[in-house]
Amino acid sequence: MASFDLTVLGSSGGPADGKTCAFLLKPSGLTFDQILDGQMNDCLLCVDAGTGISGFCEILLLHLRNRLSQLQKDDIDILSYYKDSLEISDYTSIETVVPFGNPREEAVASMGVFEYASKLFNLISAYLITHSHIDHVSGLLVNSPAFSQPVITSNSPRPRRVSLTSSKKIYSIPSAIDNIQNHLYNDLVWPDLTAAHTGSSISLMKLEPEQLVQLNCWFGVETFVISHGIIPHEHKDEMFESSAYLITLKPPKDDGGASADSESSFPSKLLFFGDVESDSTSISPRNHRIWREVAPLVVSGQLRAVVIECSNYNLPKTVPLFGHMTPTHLISEFVTLAKECSLLSGAAYHPLDGLHVLITHVKETDSSCDPRKIILQQLRELNDSHDLRLNFTIALPGLTYKI
Ligand SMILES: [Zn+2]
Ligand SMILES: [Zn+2]
Repeated sequence: MASFDLTVLGSSGGPADGKTCAFLLKPSGLTFDQILDGQMNDCLLCVDAGTGISGFCEILLLHLRNRLSQLQKDDIDILSYYKDSLEISDYTSIETVVPFGNPREEAVASMGVFEYASKLFNLISAYLITHSHIDHVSGLLVNSPAFSQPVITSNSPRPRRVSLTSSKKIYSIPSAIDNIQNHLYNDLVWPDLTAAHTGSSISLMKLEPEQLVQLNCWFGVETFVISHGIIPHEHKDEMFESSAYLITLKPPKDDGGASADSESSFPSKLLFFGDVESDSTSISPRNHRIWREVAPLVVSGQLRAVVIECSNYNLPKTVPLFGHMTPTHLISEFVTLAKECSLLSGAAYHPLDGLHVLITHVKETDSSCDPRKIILQQLRELNDSHDLRLNFTIALPGLTYKI
C-alpha cells in the first residue's frame, strides 16, 4: 500500500497564534524537491490552513541548519512554552521522516527559503478545509496573494492580478464554503481573491456529504458532516458544522516510480477529523455513523491512521468545552469504533490493536505544565483500562509522519 507523508505546519488549538492546525499531505515516495523540480501540481494536499507558508519556512530553516533529522524539543516552540515537556520521541509512536531530498544544499539553498516555500505552495492544487473557524483558515487567507501577482498592462491603468498556477481549489462542506465566501473573502474582512476579475486561481468548491470526490491525481475524499458546538440564537440554538474527511491515497497509473511495491494500487485511507465534539456530549451526535463506515477499513488494515482532536485534558463536567473533546470523550469514541469492528470481525478480540491515532488541536494553557504531556498520559491510561491497544502520537509542528 502507498504511504502518506503528513507534514505538520501547525497543530495548536490556540490561543497561541500562528501555530494553529494545518497539515500538508504528499505520497511518501516523492520528496518536496522532486515535486518542485518536476512542477508536479497534482500530488500535494493541504488539510486545514491555520498556518501557511511561514510554517513551511520554519521547517525549511531547520532543514538548512541540518536539524530536521535530529529535532530536539527546543526546536519546537509549542514544547518550549512549558517547563516539563517530554522529549519528541515520547510524543511519537509513528515513524518520522525528512521530507526533502539529499544533499540538502542543492534544492533548498539554491533559492531563498521564502521563494522555495512559495513555489511549493503554488503547486498545492487542493485545500481541504474542515470548517470555517479562523484558526483553520487564517494561513490560507494571508497566503492567498502569493497565489497570484499584480501586473499592469499598457491598456489597463489599474493593476490586475494574474494567476501563477492553473488552479487552486478550496474544498469544504457547503456551510463552511458559504461562511468563507460571505464573511472572509468579502472585500471587507479580506479582499475577495476568489473573484474572476482579480485573475484569481482560487476556486471555492462545495463537497456534498458522503460523496466520493477525486481531488487530484493521487488523493480522493469522502466527506462527513460532524458537530462542533452550538451557535447561540435567541429562540433556538443551532449546531455549528465541522467535517471529517476519509482521504484516499492511490497512485495514478503512471506515477513516475513513486510507488515502489506491487501492492501500491491498493488504496490507503486516512480519517481526518476537524474540530469535533463527542457523541456522548452532543445534542446532535454524528460520529457513530463514521465509525460504522470505517470499521471494515480498520478490520482490513486499509485505514492507516485516525487524525483527531483532543483539545483539553480531562476537566470537571461543569467546565464548558465549546464543541471539543477531552481524553475521556475521545476514548468513548474509540470504544464505539471497537464495537463496530467486533460486529464485523466476530472473533477479533482486539480489533484496534496497533491502529495509529494522531492527536491534534491541543489548546495551550497558562501553566508551566505541558497540556500535551497530560493529555497523552490520560489517553494512555484510558487506552490501557479499556484494553483498546491504540498507538497514540501527539502531532508536533515541524515533524513529517510516514503513515
Ligand atoms: Zn473550530
Ligand atoms: Zn479549531
